[in-house]
Amino acid sequence: MPIKVSHKAEQKSNNLNEETQLSYNGILKMANRIVYIKSKVYEDLLKLAKKYPSRIICGFIIGYKENNCFYIEDFHLFPAHVGPKIHFKPIWKGYYDAKDYITKFMCKEIIGEFHTHPDGNKELTEKDKQILKWLGAKIMVLVTPEDIIPIEYISPQKNQPATYNKLDIDVI
Ligand SMILES: [Zn+2]
Repeated sequence: MPIKVSHKAEQKSNNLNEETQLSYNGILKMANRIVYIKSKVYEDLLKLAKKYPSRIICGFIIGYKENNCFYIEDFHLFPAHVGPKIHFKPIWKGYYDAKDYITKFMCKEIIGEFHTHPDGNKELTEKDKQILKWLGAKIMVLVTPEDIIPIEYISPQKNQPATYNKLDIDVI
Protein backbone atom coordinates (compact mmCIF):
# COMPACT_ATOMS: atom_id res chain seq x y z
CA MET A 1 0.00 0.00 0.00
CA PRO A 2 2.65 2.64 0.83
CA ILE A 3 4.01 2.27 -2.74
CA LYS A 4 0.60 3.02 -4.20
CA VAL A 5 0.16 6.11 -2.02
CA SER A 6 3.56 7.62 -2.89
CA HIS A 7 2.95 6.90 -6.58
CA LYS A 8 -0.34 8.77 -6.39
CA ALA A 9 1.29 11.68 -4.58
CA GLU A 10 3.99 11.89 -7.26
CA GLN A 11 1.46 11.87 -10.07
CA LYS A 12 -0.59 14.58 -8.42
CA SER A 13 2.37 16.82 -7.62
CA ASN A 14 3.10 17.36 -11.34
CA ASN A 15 -0.03 19.46 -11.60
CA LEU A 16 0.08 21.27 -8.31
CA ASN A 17 1.98 24.26 -7.07
CA GLU A 18 4.17 23.83 -4.04
CA GLU A 19 1.64 25.10 -1.53
CA THR A 20 -1.16 22.86 -2.72
CA GLN A 21 1.24 19.98 -2.85
CA LEU A 22 2.15 20.57 0.77
CA SER A 23 -1.46 20.52 1.86
CA TYR A 24 -2.11 17.51 -0.35
CA ASN A 25 0.72 15.71 1.40
CA GLY A 26 -0.72 16.93 4.68
CA ILE A 27 -4.05 15.33 3.85
CA LEU A 28 -2.31 12.11 2.94
CA LYS A 29 -0.54 12.18 6.27
CA MET A 30 -3.79 12.80 8.12
CA ALA A 31 -5.57 10.10 6.16
CA ASN A 32 -3.11 7.63 7.63
CA ARG A 33 -4.11 8.56 11.12
CA ILE A 34 -7.91 8.44 11.13
CA VAL A 35 -9.96 6.24 13.40
CA TYR A 36 -13.45 5.58 12.05
CA ILE A 37 -16.08 4.71 14.62
CA LYS A 38 -19.69 3.64 14.18
CA SER A 39 -22.01 6.32 15.54
CA LYS A 40 -23.84 3.87 17.81
CA VAL A 41 -20.56 2.75 19.36
CA TYR A 42 -19.50 6.38 19.77
CA GLU A 43 -22.75 7.24 21.58
CA ASP A 44 -22.67 4.11 23.73
CA LEU A 45 -19.11 4.81 24.89
CA LEU A 46 -19.98 8.41 25.84
CA LYS A 47 -22.99 7.09 27.75
CA LEU A 48 -20.70 4.80 29.76
CA ALA A 49 -18.55 7.73 30.89
CA LYS A 50 -21.68 9.69 31.87
CA LYS A 51 -23.41 6.79 33.59
CA TYR A 52 -20.46 6.06 35.91
CA PRO A 53 -19.15 9.49 36.94
CA SER A 54 -16.95 8.15 39.72
CA ARG A 55 -15.76 4.86 38.32
CA ILE A 56 -13.43 3.99 35.46
CA ILE A 57 -14.92 1.48 33.03
CA CYS A 58 -12.63 -0.39 30.67
CA GLY A 59 -12.82 -2.83 27.84
CA PHE A 60 -11.61 -4.04 24.48
CA ILE A 61 -12.02 -2.19 21.21
CA ILE A 62 -13.25 -4.50 18.45
CA GLY A 63 -12.72 -3.73 14.78
CA TYR A 64 -10.06 -3.90 12.13
CA LYS A 65 -7.21 -1.99 10.55
CA GLU A 66 -7.16 -1.23 6.87
CA ASN A 67 -4.91 1.09 4.84
CA ASN A 68 -3.41 2.44 8.06
CA CYS A 69 -6.86 3.44 9.36
CA PHE A 70 -8.60 1.87 12.32
CA TYR A 71 -12.27 0.94 12.14
CA ILE A 72 -14.07 0.62 15.47
CA GLU A 73 -17.12 -1.61 15.20
CA ASP A 74 -17.86 -2.56 18.78
CA PHE A 75 -16.51 -2.75 22.31
CA HIS A 76 -16.57 -5.34 25.07
CA LEU A 77 -16.00 -4.71 28.78
CA PHE A 78 -13.45 -6.52 30.90
CA PRO A 79 -13.35 -6.47 34.71
CA ALA A 80 -10.78 -4.32 36.49
CA HIS A 81 -9.80 -3.02 39.87
CA VAL A 82 -10.16 0.73 39.90
CA GLY A 83 -9.25 3.46 42.36
CA PRO A 84 -7.52 6.81 42.64
CA LYS A 85 -4.11 5.25 43.31
CA ILE A 86 -4.11 2.46 40.72
CA HIS A 87 -6.31 4.24 38.11
CA PHE A 88 -7.31 0.82 36.75
CA LYS A 89 -5.82 -2.63 36.62
CA PRO A 90 -7.39 -5.49 34.67
CA ILE A 91 -8.46 -8.55 36.62
CA TRP A 92 -6.38 -10.83 34.46
CA LYS A 93 -8.62 -13.90 34.45
CA GLY A 94 -11.60 -11.85 33.36
CA TYR A 95 -9.42 -9.98 30.89
CA TYR A 96 -8.22 -13.18 29.18
CA ASP A 97 -11.68 -14.78 29.32
CA ALA A 98 -13.14 -11.74 27.54
CA LYS A 99 -10.30 -11.82 25.03
CA ASP A 100 -10.95 -15.49 24.25
CA TYR A 101 -14.67 -14.85 23.97
CA ILE A 102 -14.13 -12.09 21.38
CA THR A 103 -11.42 -13.75 19.31
CA LYS A 104 -12.45 -17.42 19.51
CA PHE A 105 -16.21 -17.34 20.01
CA MET A 106 -17.20 -14.14 18.23
CA CYS A 107 -14.27 -14.51 15.79
CA LYS A 108 -13.64 -10.77 15.95
CA GLU A 109 -10.42 -8.81 16.08
CA ILE A 110 -9.28 -6.75 19.05
CA ILE A 111 -7.49 -3.59 17.93
CA GLY A 112 -6.99 -1.99 21.31
CA GLU A 113 -8.50 -1.10 24.63
CA PHE A 114 -10.51 1.76 26.02
CA HIS A 115 -11.18 3.20 29.44
CA THR A 116 -13.27 6.06 30.67
CA HIS A 117 -11.99 9.28 32.20
CA PRO A 118 -15.22 10.45 33.84
CA ASP A 119 -13.37 13.56 35.09
CA GLY A 120 -12.98 14.71 31.48
CA ASN A 121 -9.17 14.41 31.31
CA LYS A 122 -8.22 14.07 27.63
CA GLU A 123 -4.60 13.10 28.28
CA LEU A 124 -2.96 9.85 29.24
CA THR A 125 -2.00 9.83 32.90
CA GLU A 126 1.41 8.56 34.03
CA LYS A 127 -0.45 5.49 35.30
CA ASP A 128 -1.96 4.99 31.83
CA LYS A 129 1.52 4.94 30.30
CA GLN A 130 2.52 2.25 32.76
CA ILE A 131 -0.64 0.27 31.99
CA LEU A 132 0.08 0.53 28.25
CA LYS A 133 3.41 -1.17 28.88
CA TRP A 134 1.58 -4.22 30.24
CA LEU A 135 -1.20 -4.20 27.68
CA GLY A 136 0.90 -3.30 24.65
CA ALA A 137 -2.32 -2.02 23.08
CA LYS A 138 -2.21 -0.82 19.49
CA ILE A 139 -4.66 1.92 20.36
CA MET A 140 -5.90 3.14 23.71
CA VAL A 141 -9.16 5.02 23.48
CA LEU A 142 -9.88 7.55 26.21
CA VAL A 143 -13.58 8.15 26.75
CA THR A 144 -14.66 11.31 28.56
CA PRO A 145 -18.32 12.29 29.00
CA GLU A 146 -17.92 14.66 26.01
CA ASP A 147 -15.19 13.27 23.82
CA ILE A 148 -13.48 10.17 22.53
CA ILE A 149 -9.74 10.35 22.03
CA PRO A 150 -7.92 7.47 20.36
CA ILE A 151 -4.21 7.27 21.06
CA GLU A 152 -1.86 5.03 19.16
CA TYR A 153 0.75 3.45 21.38
CA ILE A 154 4.07 2.40 19.94
CA SER A 155 6.16 0.46 22.43
CA PRO A 156 9.78 1.51 22.98
CA GLN A 157 12.11 0.63 20.11
CA LYS A 158 15.90 0.39 20.11
CA ASN A 159 17.17 3.67 21.62
CA GLN A 160 13.71 5.18 21.14
CA PRO A 161 11.25 5.89 23.93
CA ALA A 162 7.60 4.83 23.65
CA THR A 163 5.43 7.15 21.57
CA TYR A 164 1.81 8.13 22.02
CA ASN A 165 0.07 9.62 18.99
CA LYS A 166 -3.35 11.17 19.26
CA LEU A 167 -5.36 10.11 16.23
CA ASP A 168 -8.22 11.91 14.52
CA ILE A 169 -11.62 10.34 14.95
CA ASP A 170 -14.43 10.30 12.42
CA VAL A 171 -17.93 9.12 13.31
CA ILE A 172 -19.52 7.07 10.52
ZN1 LIG B 1 -6.53 6.82 32.06
